[in-house]
Amino acid sequence: KLYNEVQDLKGNIRVYCRIRPFLSGQSQNHTTVEFIGDDGELIISNPLKQGKESRKLFKFNKVFGQATSQEEVFLDTRPLIRSVLDGFNVCIFAYGQTGSGKTYTMSGPNLSSKSDWGVNYRALHDLFHISQSRKNSIVYEVGVQMVEIYNEQVRDLLSSNVKYTKFLFLDLHTLGIWNTTQPNGLAVPDASMHSVNSMQNVLELMNIGMMNRATSATALNERSSRSHSVLSIHVRGTEVKTNSLLRGCLHLVDLAGSERVDRSEATGDRLKEAQHINKSLSALGDVIFALAQKSPHVPYRNSKLTQLLQSSLGGQAKTLMFVQLNPDVASYSETISTLKFAERVS
Ligand code: ADP
Ligand code: MG
Repeated sequence: KLYNEVQDLKGNIRVYCRIRPFLSGQSQNHTTVEFIGDDGELIISNPLKQGKESRKLFKFNKVFGQATSQEEVFLDTRPLIRSVLDGFNVCIFAYGQTGSGKTYTMSGPNLSSKSDWGVNYRALHDLFHISQSRKNSIVYEVGVQMVEIYNEQVRDLLSSNVKYTKFLFLDLHTLGIWNTTQPNGLAVPDASMHSVNSMQNVLELMNIGMMNRATSATALNERSSRSHSVLSIHVRGTEVKTNSLLRGCLHLVDLAGSERVDRSEATGDRLKEAQHINKSLSALGDVIFALAQKSPHVPYRNSKLTQLLQSSLGGQAKTLMFVQLNPDVASYSETISTLKFAERVS
């Protein structure tokens, strides 16, 4: 069977695939990407194995090839960002093995160069821009939270008193300026909320977040690939004429690396981490699967990640998953397992 459908995203779930380029020094000869079609088709094959069995066709809403710029990727993401200002909740994920370009897509390689900005900075830039243009009819406020989930514990990356806390569903009324009467509200309970009104504010906050992530970890890259980071952008608009309120929320999630860990090799902390990652990624897959199937029961409670994002997954909320691939043949089997995950959630 050549044809694997990863498509026709029922309802509000979209899946984009992005293939990162070969890095300098990497041999270009052994790519697993055989074909990219204009309508989201992707053929993956193993160049070291001849024969048809190694060719597999997948279908996405869109496939971005190696030469795609950050700007092009954002053009196809932008409509979702706009809908946040209209009161929708949106979740954008990057899924893939470590080194496949998740952080590149979500944040970018380099904050100081605007053309390198990933989805999160571009999204905030857009939100400020649009809210400015609407200011005579709607006055918007924007608040930001940033947390990390590591071994099923949630850590606030923007708090001056950074420490792991057990995840609690606190009363959202305690969240100060973001008081809300909605139960199960939009905010991440227990994490500090920071008002922002310019890109300068945002960049400063992100730097704090990244430093907080670094100081506690002996090996930043090691650790960050084994935790999920969630940037939550909360928008509240007040209509000038009627004084009525609208709220929207955008969660931007750089997921932990999806690579499988060899059970025979991993022990102790490494094994525990791997089990937590496994559990939370499959819980996320289960939730999106249930939503795509329009199942009456959506299993949000099986991981901190899905609990945290509950109000932004399902219902009227919109979901976008970037499925990230490393084209190198050495990654062939991880690539196939990433694509299998994608197939199931769409
Ligand atoms: P991940 O977060 O999935 O572990 P990274 O985003 O850190 O992966 O990407 C791994 C490496 O590949 C980094 O050096 C990154 O700069 C580079 N890279 C990833 N995607 C791209 C891309 N689209 N264009 C250029 N370089 C990329
Ligand atoms: Mg990363």
